[in-house]
Amino acid sequence: MNIILFGPPGVGKGTQAQLLASAYNLHHISTGDMLRAAIKGGTELGKVAKGHVESGALVPDDVIIGLVKEVLLEQMEHERGFLLDGFPRTVDQAKALEQLFTEIAIQDVRIISLDAPEEELITRMVKRGQDLGRADDTEETIRHRLNVYQQQTEPVKGYYAQSREIMSVDGLGSVEEVTQRIMKCLGHPALV
Ligand code: ADP
Repeated sequence: MNIILFGPPGVGKGTQAQLLASAYNLHHISTGDMLRAAIKGGTELGKVAKGHVESGALVPDDVIIGLVKEVLLEQMEHERGFLLDGFPRTVDQAKALEQLFTEIAIQDVRIISLDAPEEELITRMVKRGQDLGRADDTEETIRHRLNVYQQQTEPVKGYYAQSREIMSVDGLGSVEEVTQRIMKCLGHPALV
């Protein structure tokens, strides 16, 4: 089984991704985490990504698509599935991913779309900014990221609706409640 976890910033994708990856023994691929690590390490990718990530804009499609392709190709050498967190975020990314799935014969992809009201997303991200000091969790950048989500990422749902089933899950409630809802949708018993 492979999972694409989709949803707005602040909805809890990262938290749920970690729990699901360990419950189903999946390789957790978070583009946001990869970019933050690259920025911290001062790598070439980090230098390209820094301005975009810190202002709440998306990193250019060619950069991020190249990165995900590399990780997924490498992943194919291992026997386990993957969980994509934060990718695809544009229709072009989704199209590139579909092409890659065909090329490398990846099947059994489940798409989970998590959602929560905008006020809740803002509250959660402001709190995360205070707790963890993430550079893009300031009020102004949060609003920008939500706009970017509406304009560039929401259309991905419409794209998938033509060809794949999207399972919508309510992201409100405790972390455990949300995990249980997702697991129920997947209809898959956890490994642990
Ligand atoms: P959140 O979902 O809370 O916005 P992420 O950690 O997923 O957090 O992403 C943080 C930032 O990393 C994004 O605002 C964007 O700048 C960059 N990023 C992550 N994934 C992608 C992607 N698939 N395409 C372009 N930029 C991305």
